[in-house]
Amino acid sequence: MTYPQRTLWCGEARPTHVGQEVTFNGWAHRVRNLGGLLFVDFRDRSGLVQLVFDPEAHGKLDIKPETCLSVSGRVHMRDESNVNPKLPTGEVEIHVTGLTVLNECGVLPFQLADEDQMQKVNEELRVKYRYLDLRRSTMHRKLAVRAAAVRKLRKYLDDRGFIETETPIFTKSTPEGARDYLVPYRLEPGKFYALPQSPQQYKQLLMVAGLEKYYQIAKCFRDEAQRADRQPEFTQLDIEMSFATQEDVLQLVEGMTVTAINELISEFDLDKEPVQPFVRLTYDESLRLYGNDKPDLRFGLELFDVTDRVASCGFSVFESCAGNGGSVRGVRYPGGAKLSRKEVGELEELCKSFGAKGMASLYIDSTPHEGSIEVAGLHLRGAMAKFVRPEVLSQLVACAGAEPGDLLCFVADTWAVSCEALARLRIAIGDACGLRDKRVLKFALVLDFPLVEWNEEQNRWDPTHHPFTSPKAEDLIFLDTDPGRIRADCYDVVCNGTEWASGRIRIHRPDIQSRIFKLIGVSEEEQRSRFGHILDAFAFGAPPHGGIAPGIDRMVMFLTDDDNIREVIAFPKLGGGFDPMMEAPSDIDNAQWQEMGLSVTKPV
Ligand code: ASP
Repeated sequence: MTYPQRTLWCGEARPTHVGQEVTFNGWAHRVRNLGGLLFVDFRDRSGLVQLVFDPEAHGKLDIKPETCLSVSGRVHMRDESNVNPKLPTGEVEIHVTGLTVLNECGVLPFQLADEDQMQKVNEELRVKYRYLDLRRSTMHRKLAVRAAAVRKLRKYLDDRGFIETETPIFTKSTPEGARDYLVPYRLEPGKFYALPQSPQQYKQLLMVAGLEKYYQIAKCFRDEAQRADRQPEFTQLDIEMSFATQEDVLQLVEGMTVTAINELISEFDLDKEPVQPFVRLTYDESLRLYGNDKPDLRFGLELFDVTDRVASCGFSVFESCAGNGGSVRGVRYPGGAKLSRKEVGELEELCKSFGAKGMASLYIDSTPHEGSIEVAGLHLRGAMAKFVRPEVLSQLVACAGAEPGDLLCFVADTWAVSCEALARLRIAIGDACGLRDKRVLKFALVLDFPLVEWNEEQNRWDPTHHPFTSPKAEDLIFLDTDPGRIRADCYDVVCNGTEWASGRIRIHRPDIQSRIFKLIGVSEEEQRSRFGHILDAFAFGAPPHGGIAPGIDRMVMFLTDDDNIREVIAFPKLGGGFDPMMEAPSDIDNAQWQEMGLSVTKPV
């Protein structure tokens, strides 16, 4: 098909083009018929321009939105009253002289020109017709931010001598804590490839191969429960370096992130403050101050611990918890003293939903209220105020750094439950107080994770991350006596309360690797069958090495303010890993079953 080719992008038409004859290729975006005069907002990737069709020249035209057209015309200034200051092309319009319909558009499943409506369209419908959903400029922009992010990360690493290397997708299980996706092997029925949960083993083998600095924009496949920030296949920037210390990896990732994100903020004019140097804290500090290992540091409100103050405070809930090895900790709710009983009840329900037995609250005012008692010039209310002795109350208030108008929320429980419940409560308070500013991206490095954690159900030690993580040399003495005390050369990068990257220095000596496998209950046979290749490789002069893998999807989410990972992926999967557009996964035909030597036995 021949048709007039574009001479100008829609979004570029300006008063300087007035008088010129131009051609656009694109789609009818919005169509308005005003007393015979047809106005069409015409769209291509660059933006919109207004077309005007004169009925005398074109007769009666019926152009449906999303029809694909080639349009030629002359550029005119708009009448002053018709200027649209919201559009970059809003001062001009095109008086159409020639029109070629390249393809008609059928009945649309949604009105994609109407952004407000699109916010309400069911996600499954959007994903089913993703090729239409993606026509929207908001979606184009996300893909453009994503492409630019990858470009900048690549450049940063290329400039520093990293070699981008592809590793196989059909491989053997590489555990990252999820279930594998398996692909049947036609030539030997009963054998399967696993899709990589990450290129972890290959990148370590590339270090054995002497590559020294590797990276890859890597697809990872994990069959695990879906969440708003998880997809069965997602993309990581996978990095590995030889002869590198933890500090080398941390400096690389910090430098790369700050550079790339700050450039993206200015290139796309994003409403974000420039990223500042990363905060550093240890895993233990993070749990103590924020209740988890992915703290949102856009705001303070650190947790406080009063366990050693309440052993004989007069309040039996606190006393028995403190006396039985539990923790009594709390968080301050600025301005929370004005909350209603119902609102405080909701905070308690939140704590309970994360395993806490309850939540005790203390209202702090500068003036007396019904039932309040005066302690150190403040007026305190709440059930606690009735039981806890005044001198202890004043210590609790001091510990919390409380001010008049605050509410103090306490959880008395096991250490783990107090962490979980208070971490959630702190975030809820941060939200309620407007402290989680979208314009701020606050990155933190969380260091010194424990190497292993006790699995109560299975009665064994599990690796906190994965079995190739190096223990800190000085903690190896605890390997046989107190493994829970071993810290790992393991680090996470966290942004605004979300884990963004995870990495570690690896074990590169087969003897230490075998001892760790033994600790986590991987038998010698299993070591050979699952990881024989890597153990063998380590025996050939493997260099010390380590790496990290930041998530590309999440990086884009930070920049585009999306909470849903599917928004930043061109063709995402929905719940259960289903793709309603391709209708995948799908049945295979009988011949394929036979060819693959497969049959299904349904569990009874
Ligand atoms: N393979 C790890 C992960 O996917 C990252 C790393 O240790 O480099 O989390």
